[in-house]
Amino acid sequence: MMPALKPITIVGGGLAGLTLGIGLRQRGIPVTVWEAGHYPRHRVCGEFISGRGEDVLERLGLLDSFFQAGAVLGMTAAFYLGRFGSPVRTLGTPALCLSRFAMDALLAERLRQAGGELREDARWREGDYGEGVVRANGRRLQPRENGSQWFGLKVHAHNVLLTADLEMHGSQTGYVGFCRLGGGAVNVCGLFRRTAGKPDSAQTWRDLLRGQPGTPLWECLAGAVFEQGSFCSVAGFSLKPHRAASRSECCVGDALTMIPPVTGNGMSMAFEAAEMAIRPLAAYSQGECSWSEARRNVAEACDRAFARRLAWARCLQWMMFTPLLRAMPGSAVLHSDLLWRLMYARTR
Ligand SMILES: Cc1cc2nc3c(=O)[nH]c(=O)nc-3n(C[C@H](O)[C@H](O)[C@H](O)COP(=O)(O)OP(=O)(O)OC[C@H]3O[C@@H](n4cnc5c(N)ncnc54)[C@H](O)[C@@H]3O)c2cc1C
Repeated sequence: MMPALKPITIVGGGLAGLTLGIGLRQRGIPVTVWEAGHYPRHRVCGEFISGRGEDVLERLGLLDSFFQAGAVLGMTAAFYLGRFGSPVRTLGTPALCLSRFAMDALLAERLRQAGGELREDARWREGDYGEGVVRANGRRLQPRENGSQWFGLKVHAHNVLLTADLEMHGSQTGYVGFCRLGGGAVNVCGLFRRTAGKPDSAQTWRDLLRGQPGTPLWECLAGAVFEQGSFCSVAGFSLKPHRAASRSECCVGDALTMIPPVTGNGMSMAFEAAEMAIRPLAAYSQGECSWSEARRNVAEACDRAFARRLAWARCLQWMMFTPLLRAMPGSAVLHSDLLWRLMYARTR
């Protein structure tokens, strides 16, 4: 008689947790996902997937359902620093653009169809992520980093004037990205830095996203109509890279490490990490290896895949914030094809 399969518990039903759950169910492994929230709901995210994550979705048989849910392809991109912009560039591989409202809900549905147990509005309260438990509960709270705090804002809007499908606008306090979604809607998503000890200004989220009058960012949003109900925000997370081997738990997605959002690669990393975890966790469930071996195999695979990417992403994040580059009018940085290609390739 075959020995019983050991169950896997996944804490967090975001992209990493749901994708892992689906992948394990495809191998017949018993899976329970705990999700503190419910579906559908809006999430702070630029909502474009670029990089190897698209291939993961295809391999797991999920890509078609993304298109059925309304995903569109982003073909072009442009970068702005203050008043200066880059040429519009064609992406080597198109990005996949879909709202998280639709994306998370479709993955939740697919997990259930595959026979996974999904507990909504169920927060995991045990401090311990022991044997058989995977931590996929997203970004870890970190109130301050180097004396400042990161916060992110997201809203959908119509009537946004864009020159490219994806745009990134850097300013002194952060950056705002645009991504064309289906049906004329545009994702407007910003990452900002607040310095500790400085009193909060009375700026509203609209002021923050619009930026300074006279800049291309301001002009993009001059006639924008925001969908109030889609607004959401997050604060207090860390953008410092972490190695999986340094974590005592089995982690995937942002729970493992965050990549700076300017790369637009966080979702891809969540899908990739989930896929890399399927085989070792299935082996554990089938009694072919111990939990600590499975955990170590997941961590080693993630570190091999992400270490270099995280280092380049840190460099790109620095470039977005350094006054040095903003001081170069018509910046060579924005016009350098070589730099664009290098940064794009190395951060995914
Ligand atoms: C401003 C900003 C813009 C971004 N833009 C992009 C982009 O354009 N492209 C891109 O690829 N990436 C982007 N990202 C990154 C991307 O959003 C994340 O990398 C991705 O969501 C990570 O997926 P995840 O499953 O690890 O975490 P999440 O999607 O955050 O899911 C974690 C889940 O765990 C649940 N949870 C938490 N604690 C518990 C608990 N105790 N019990 C049960 N459930 C729990 C949460 O409710 C949540 O649903 C952006 C990030 C930010 C901050």
